[in-house]
Amino acid sequence: MTPIIDMHTHTMASGHGYSTLKENIEAAKERGLRALGLSEHGPAMPGGPHIFFFSNYRCIPREYEGLRLFCGVEANICDYDGGLDLEEGILERMDYVIASMHTMCCRPGTIEENTQASIMAMQNPHVTVLGHPDDSRYPLDREKIVRVAKESGTAIEINNSSLNPLAARKGARENIKELLYWCGRYETPVLLGTDSHICYTVGDFTEVLTVLEEEAFPKELVLNYDMNNLKKIVKPDRL
Ligand SMILES: [Zn+2]
Ligand SMILES: [Zn+2]
Repeated sequence: MTPIIDMHTHTMASGHGYSTLKENIEAAKERGLRALGLSEHGPAMPGGPHIFFFSNYRCIPREYEGLRLFCGVEANICDYDGGLDLEEGILERMDYVIASMHTMCCRPGTIEENTQASIMAMQNPHVTVLGHPDDSRYPLDREKIVRVAKESGTAIEINNSSLNPLAARKGARENIKELLYWCGRYETPVLLGTDSHICYTVGDFTEVLTVLEEEAFPKELVLNYDMNNLKKIVKPDRL
């Protein structure tokens, strides 16, 4: 089976991405994806888009020759109470919301603080994906995260970029294996994301697929193989 959905991609608008939306769309079609998610960084990211960027998504067509496009955000978790860097009115306009911790926007805390930040972000009704909880710079109680994800209907992202040997998120391979272990135990769905910052990696899940195979992770818990699973990520009126 091949993943047909990539909901974690960035363009030049994120400030440190290198492709345009058109280039990402063309790349997604070439890879055979059926759904592409635009998840630019939230405005707290240095060089990230202004909030007006997110309020203008209405001008973007959501279908390109059979490729569905969804316009969302990778919001920054900014404090240990799960506060995000976009206000309610803008979050409402997003087709979907990933919430992630980045060192530029949230200083790594204790395991209790980081875990609470992640849990409270997942309890935000707009958030349907917890982005890359695989970063050793943010110690986390991964069992608790995965259990709450199941309860709150949030998908755990398994991030292909984290497995790049040059990635900033250290220890990701072991942390991803731990996430997969608990996701298997609690039957928590996972969403594979490429976290592409250039068109050439859109839809390329090589690294995570190898780890899923090694861990014999059940395919039915992976959301990327079936367009029907988008209802777990995207707001119903945007499908
Ligand atoms: Zn980025
Ligand atoms: Zn991120």
